Amino acid sequence: MFLEQTKLNSQRKGWIEVVTGSMFSGKTEELIRRLKRAQIAKQHVEIFKPAIERRYDIVNIVSHDANQIPSTPVPSSSNILLLGNGVDVIGIDEAQFFDDQLPYVCETLANNGTRVIIAGLDMDYLGKPFGPMPMLLAIADYITKVHAICMNCGDLANHSFRTTRGEELIILGEKESYIPLCRSCFVKNMRNVSNETLQVKST
Ligand code: ZN
Repeated sequence: MFLEQTKLNSQRKGWIEVVTGSMFSGKTEELIRRLKRAQIAKQHVEIFKPAIERRYDIVNIVSHDANQIPSTPVPSSSNILLLGNGVDVIGIDEAQFFDDQLPYVCETLANNGTRVIIAGLDMDYLGKPFGPMPMLLAIADYITKVHAICMNCGDLANHSFRTTRGEELIILGEKESYIPLCRSCFVKNMRNVSNETLQVKST
């Protein structure tokens, strides 16, 4: 488990934490756990998520176990810079859907003394690094990789396998469209998908 650094001096220092992993790995639950503790300590906490993210609720960050916390949907990462100025702790959920300015935004906030906690998918449904996440992982002070359980073999899962066909990167209603798989089950399933596609093309 991630343990926050305690600082005994009064000087305000910022840093960047990233919580990442596949779908159903508990990223949002971990983000909420860290943010709630800061709220209890009367720190000024603000939470942002991309306006695209409308799966369950527009205003609240809702994790899969219905643990929720009020958040502000924003159309672009530059809004976070404006709205987050002077805030003690900033949480950002579904960071993979933000634009490529998000790393700059997080770095600027951290440099100005804010603790920035980011949750996001590390890889898309093809197993490729997702949006601004690689850059965020590079500039983070602390990284926590969380894992789901492979629905096929019960091993630790780090991939989100899409069970429906389609080329778009974002499909809403994730519970029906994705399952968590370990590396070897993911590779096997992806090979089956490409074989099926080849068969369809050749007929
Ligand atoms: Zn597996």
